[in-house]
Amino acid sequence: GSEGDTRGALRTRALRAKLAAVTSTIFDELDPPTRLLMGPGPSDVPPRVLRALASPTVGHLDPYYLRVMNETRELLKRTFRTDNELTFPISATGMAGMEAAVVNLIEPGDEMIVGVNGVFGERMCDVAARAGATVHRVEAPWGTTIEPDAIRAALSANPNVKVVGIVHAETSTGAHQPLEEIGKTVREHDALFLVDAVTSLGGAPLEIDAWHVDACYSGSQKCLSCPPGLSPVTFSPRAIERIEKRTSKVQSWYLDVSMIKSYWGGERAYHHTAPVNMTYAMREALRMVHEEGLEQRWARHATHHRALRAGLEALGLRYVPERSLPMLNAVHVPAGVDDAATRKALLEQHGIEIGGGLGPFKGKAWRVGLMGASCTRRHVTTLLGALGSLLP
Ligand code: PLP
Repeated sequence: GSEGDTRGALRTRALRAKLAAVTSTIFDELDPPTRLLMGPGPSDVPPRVLRALASPTVGHLDPYYLRVMNETRELLKRTFRTDNELTFPISATGMAGMEAAVVNLIEPGDEMIVGVNGVFGERMCDVAARAGATVHRVEAPWGTTIEPDAIRAALSANPNVKVVGIVHAETSTGAHQPLEEIGKTVREHDALFLVDAVTSLGGAPLEIDAWHVDACYSGSQKCLSCPPGLSPVTFSPRAIERIEKRTSKVQSWYLDVSMIKSYWGGERAYHHTAPVNMTYAMREALRMVHEEGLEQRWARHATHHRALRAGLEALGLRYVPERSLPMLNAVHVPAGVDDAATRKALLEQHGIEIGGGLGPFKGKAWRVGLMGASCTRRHVTTLLGALGSLLP
């Protein structure tokens, strides 16, 4: 009868309401926008790398994964231009690479020189001080690079310095730090040379062995065009010797490379559960680096940087650093232009992400990345067209 129908309808309505309540608490299926990532990282991730990431997960001690680990190490050694056996990705982002390098090389009371000309040199001082180092800062104004003579003078004034840390690509200012001469000086003083190559690896010349670099860390999400989550590191035999002679334990359990070494090296002793699928992605990203050729890749970054620079300057923008990196182009926000509103319009109207300024450059600089898969002619022309349409 009609009473039964009404009850049925009521029940259906109640069920629908319940279903709606449940779906609203589990949210919609992910549907991220496709951006042009032209900020300070992450950069665009090629479909091949995303497909590798979505491959079946195997156990982290599965023979298949052990092979993937070996191949990834081999590809990383080629990317760093090193024969260092202790080369592998730390299972965390670039900052963990920085911590790993510092806490393994520094014992409480050790002296360390750090070049400071931006946010990341500043962070390295903080990490070193937390590890118990006495830090000697060699400062240069933001946007400039550290002079080899300043490092030489600091080493002569502080003969007990164990480690000299420098940022190759200062992402906060776009400054491109020359390393070769500093590497020679550090070696002459028998200290260890530590380099931050988070932004430079795979996008500009970096020669770990030829430039006497003893420890270096990078990030997956910049010129390697892998998602964020891994930090490739490499330690020279001299660095390992120093680590083996430590009299105190490394302050961090997770980042103690003498333990991680047995996991990534011969014994495969369980240390932590490696992020299996991230290693797949890294391996694929590195395969793409070497398919293209490392030197060709450096040349591609240099070419598109020149084009972008010509275009930005034609729009009236001025570069911040004296010596600009190819993959990170920092320009002054022009007077009378609203920093945040312009970046918002780029993102919302054009789907392009660029970076704002950090620290003293907040609101005053834009950082345009040309990293890895985001370093193409199309990225350059699209950004120039969009920015040109937004500037007064
Ligand atoms: N060092 C430099 C030069 C960087 O640019 C970054 C990140 O932008 C880091 C270290 C830290 O890396 P992450 O943000 O991946 O932890």
